[in-house]
Amino acid sequence: MDPVRVPVFRETDFLVAGGGTCGATCASSAAREGAGTVLLELCPGLGGTGTVGGVSAYWYGRYWAGFAIRNANLVDEVHTSIRWPTSANELNGPWNIEAKMYALLEDALQSGVEPFFNTIAIATVLQDNRVRGVVAATPYGPVAVLSKITADTTGDGDIAAFAGAKFRYGAARDSYPMWFNLAQYLRPTESRWHFGHTVIVSNVDDYTRAVLIGRRRGPTCHDHGNYIATRESRHIVGDEILTLTDILRHREWPDVINLGAGQMDCHRRVASNWIRVGLLMPILPTEMPYSALLPRGLENILVGGKAFSGTHDVLYNLRNQPDMENLGGAMGVAAACAIRDGVSARQVDLRKVQKRLTEVGTLLPGMLTRRIKDEPLDEVTIRAFVKQLDGRHLAAWEDVPMAEEGSPRYREKIPFVEICSSDPELAVPILERELAGATGDRRVRLAQALAMFGSRTAAPVLIEAIEQAMSGGNLPPKPVLNDEKDGGAVERTGIGIPTPPAELVYSLGMTRDRRALAVWEKLGSLVKPVPADFADELPWPFHYVDAICYGAELLGDAEAIPTLKKLHSDPLLKNQSTKAGFQIDFDLEKRALVEVTLARTLARLGSAEGYDTLIDYLDDNRASLAEFAHMSLEEITGCNNGKDPQAWRQWLAAAGSSLKPIPLVNRLDG
Ligand SMILES: Cc1cc2nc3c(=O)[nH]c(=O)nc-3n(C[C@H](O)[C@H](O)[C@H](O)COP(=O)(O)OP(=O)(O)OC[C@H]3O[C@@H](n4cnc5c(N)ncnc54)[C@H](O)[C@@H]3O)c2cc1C
Repeated sequence: MDPVRVPVFRETDFLVAGGGTCGATCASSAAREGAGTVLLELCPGLGGTGTVGGVSAYWYGRYWAGFAIRNANLVDEVHTSIRWPTSANELNGPWNIEAKMYALLEDALQSGVEPFFNTIAIATVLQDNRVRGVVAATPYGPVAVLSKITADTTGDGDIAAFAGAKFRYGAARDSYPMWFNLAQYLRPTESRWHFGHTVIVSNVDDYTRAVLIGRRRGPTCHDHGNYIATRESRHIVGDEILTLTDILRHREWPDVINLGAGQMDCHRRVASNWIRVGLLMPILPTEMPYSALLPRGLENILVGGKAFSGTHDVLYNLRNQPDMENLGGAMGVAAACAIRDGVSARQVDLRKVQKRLTEVGTLLPGMLTRRIKDEPLDEVTIRAFVKQLDGRHLAAWEDVPMAEEGSPRYREKIPFVEICSSDPELAVPILERELAGATGDRRVRLAQALAMFGSRTAAPVLIEAIEQAMSGGNLPPKPVLNDEKDGGAVERTGIGIPTPPAELVYSLGMTRDRRALAVWEKLGSLVKPVPADFADELPWPFHYVDAICYGAELLGDAEAIPTLKKLHSDPLLKNQSTKAGFQIDFDLEKRALVEVTLARTLARLGSAEGYDTLIDYLDDNRASLAEFAHMSLEEITGCNNGKDPQAWRQWLAAAGSSLKPIPLVNRLDG
């Protein structure tokens, strides 16, 4: 194909691609700091998820400071002029969507931003590894916008991905993201949200499917939105990858650029061992390092929005709108500073940037002078934490005093986290000694801590506790949701916690002890899903099945195959793949998710049935499930036959009876 010549439409200091929650504030902030700024936005208005996406409120747990307060005040000025009854400054507002769009646009224009709407960045201009701007699709054809520094605030990491940055969709274990949303307006400005389907927004087939199924979900609707708002999309791999362990340990970063404080709002998609074992975090003030905005190997690009470099389980704390607005503002300050000093984005003088952000109010003055200590725990300290570990369920941590808005004061250490992040050579003997003399629930908690290190000493204690929970011959009843409004299933507290005692089954699996096989068999026989179970965000039986699967993959013992096959034979968990058309029932995607989870485990244990099922999902028309199957096949076999079912079937036929278990390598964060 002949190369296409694209006219240069603008040359600017700073280019912001994506004028949503993060990007609109990013552009205005940079322009106010003196950088010539161009903003490209695919929708006809600014604000992204918070306006055209219909999510018109700030959610629980918000680090309320700086740029976010400024934005809220600007929106409230418009509210006053139109006599809107609620305030953008209030938690859960809601704001008037047009008022917010108008306020953001006025701010951008007054700051000196040059915005362009209905303009989609479709390629990145690269000179060696330096990002020089983007190519955008406009109604006048493709045009190039060149810049000294580019902010990728598409929320999907589009610009970084086009430039070749590494990324992962959703969680590391399965590439499966949180649910997306296409706003359904019950009345003007009052929307309700979806809790059931996923989308890969960079896949045009899947995006179209998402629009169509999103629009078909609203028989009581006044109207639909047009913008697919994803809760999660690409995670670009940056110089640093932020993890849940960093958050739980209150990690301080020398290059801190922003603070967040979100609720544990993971929609039951969890990917780290901390949450698998039942630990729920309170709303913790969380530091975002600048190095999480710099895609590895690329220069002069900052990735913001929810595509910053972090794991799936980090997103809940940092993705809320106040945090994203403040992040955008900080990116604008950093870019303007680098441009003023004539250096690259990576070489910016962070001290200057941080000082400016303390003036804005998003960073705390103490951050400029503090000395950060990051030393491994010694034996005495570990012993002290072990003494503090009591019998309370790990989910109780969600109830400790939370970070007050705007004052990140809560810094108490979580003993379970400190113990399990310490040197196993020191911690395991201490825990084993303590376990020998412990009783009641504390014994179970100590066993869970040992399991985090893979210690088999924990297994008998965990088995006893699980058997006790199953002693009535049934699984414990489905938890009651305390907020079932709008047909969705939102739990304000307890979101993300595995259904008890699934957290103990996860812990047992982590011990890689063969005694777990009998427990899984018994538990498996009690899991009898009914269609109504799948109406929840993640179905009630999901965590039991997932916990069995997780343990079986870690153990890698083919003796678990009959238990898994029996679960897979349930009509609700078999043949759930869909190849064509638009499957609009959320619950069917959830059944399919459980089936792929089972298939992956069967494949890992060397069962042809597992491979067969994964191959069947490669051309599923729900791209997240197809990707889950694809990445599982690739990870287990080390081969890459793409998503070509034919090639994989040939591979399977050639493998014949040589299939064998390939245990999963344990990973703390995911
Ligand atoms: C259903 C739902 C409910 C939520 N509930 C809350 C809540 O109650 N309160 C809260 O604080 N947070 C909530 N969140 C989280 C929060 O709203 C989002 O995490 C946040 O808005 C994401 O900001 P962003 O800048 O990454 O993306 P967005 O705000 O979506 O901005 C991305 C922008 O980039 C544009 N864009 C994308 N690709 C391109 C391209 N190639 N070229 C040009 N422009 C492009 C888009 O049009 C968009 O304007 C919710 C999220 C969802 C999805």
